[in-house]
Amino acid sequence: MTVKIAALILSSFLILGETAHALDDHASAAYDIFKQLIEINTTDSVGSVSKASEALAQRLLKAGFPAKDILVLGPSERKKNLVVRFHGSGQRRPVLFIGHLDVVEAPRVDWATDPFQLVEKDGYFYGRGTLDMKSSDAIAVATLIRLRNEGFKPHRDIILALTSGEESFKDNGVKWLVEHHRDLIDAEFVINMDGIGVLTDHGRPVTVRVDAAEKLYADFRLMVINPGGTTALPARDNAIYRLSAGLTRLEQYRFPFELNAVTRAYLTQLAEAADGPRRADLLALLADSPDAAALDRVSRDPLDNATLHTVCSATRLEAGHANNALPQIASAMVNCRILPGHSAEEVRKTLLDVFHDPNIQVSYVREFDGQMFDRAPDAVALPAGAPRPDVIGPLKTIARTFWPGALVIAGMSVGESDAVWTASAGMPTFMVSGLAVDRDDVRVHGRDERLRVSSFNQGIEFFYQYLKAIAIEP
Ligand SMILES: [Zn+2]
Repeated sequence: MTVKIAALILSSFLILGETAHALDDHASAAYDIFKQLIEINTTDSVGSVSKASEALAQRLLKAGFPAKDILVLGPSERKKNLVVRFHGSGQRRPVLFIGHLDVVEAPRVDWATDPFQLVEKDGYFYGRGTLDMKSSDAIAVATLIRLRNEGFKPHRDIILALTSGEESFKDNGVKWLVEHHRDLIDAEFVINMDGIGVLTDHGRPVTVRVDAAEKLYADFRLMVINPGGTTALPARDNAIYRLSAGLTRLEQYRFPFELNAVTRAYLTQLAEAADGPRRADLLALLADSPDAAALDRVSRDPLDNATLHTVCSATRLEAGHANNALPQIASAMVNCRILPGHSAEEVRKTLLDVFHDPNIQVSYVREFDGQMFDRAPDAVALPAGAPRPDVIGPLKTIARTFWPGALVIAGMSVGESDAVWTASAGMPTFMVSGLAVDRDDVRVHGRDERLRVSSFNQGIEFFYQYLKAIAIEP
């Protein structure tokens, strides 16, 4: 099915009459941008985010945006970000929309199709970035152009920043803009479009999520150093055994259960929507002294577990230097996702307690892929606050039309996104996305990444309505 036909079917489904044709045009305008973005390689290894930024800048210029409102800027040749401003009446402070243009590497051999060609097959778009997140980038740009053509006058400036370095940690565009050009992106609040907003089950809407908090990312290196020697005369102390024993203790350890304003509200909503034993378990967690058995049962689900606890996993292991020598060094990487309000340093101390072995050194890793990961060990994810009514309100209203029956729920992201930079700069940040994905088909960062054609078309109309609602006070 081509995008145009899909758009027509969708539009006649949603809206009858003349607007159906209008939606068709908007869908194909967004599709053109989407295709162009997918086909510009923006990986860290060989791609160029600058090329994508330039291409979008050209489109905005052609659509009549003044050159002074379109900026392409960044710290290096291949990592230039796009910042565009849509002027409002100035009654309110601006809103900033952020999205990243870079994508994760995609080796051609792993894929059924060329990851850097937009391929439409069996009702899906295939290509690197179809989900994460060139679809949303394209929709945002197409929507700004559409609103300009319609003569839309928002009550606040709408700023759109499409950036580099989200996936690779290198030259992160949001961080760079916050540090070097705060004036360009300063806003009352931020909408981060990077995420799966709508989960479906075989196309049936289940949840519409807005993330109002995030966990913090931290890597730790574990190291055991030993004199070593020949295996003909093994000493009692073996670096590999020591490290393994520590990791086994970590496997068995569970960080404390903890709720914050966002996850408490999230569990409450989940409980309201659940029934039977699941409902009873969720309610038991909300009680003053949560029931341990209920916590065990709920924590079996990886998403629930990650919502309720800081989690750490062993991710890499390295040891020894010869088959016939005792290991002099054994090391491992442990990656942690930390609940808001806690720091990497705090978690490092907990890890030391868990290993309970002074021979296992634990250090916070401040680099990623050879690049400094510039965050202090005592930094914490911002304490979560309840989501703004002017962010979640319109989402609830619009979601009823697009995804009837879905639970609209505010929660905490179990990952970390660019929101960490805007939030820590004091701009409250919320993740909103109108792209629907089957919950068992989330291929973000994976091979044959794909997005339903109908999700893309629906996302176009959703974003148009949502952006208008956000930019005009009721
Ligand atoms: Zn992303």
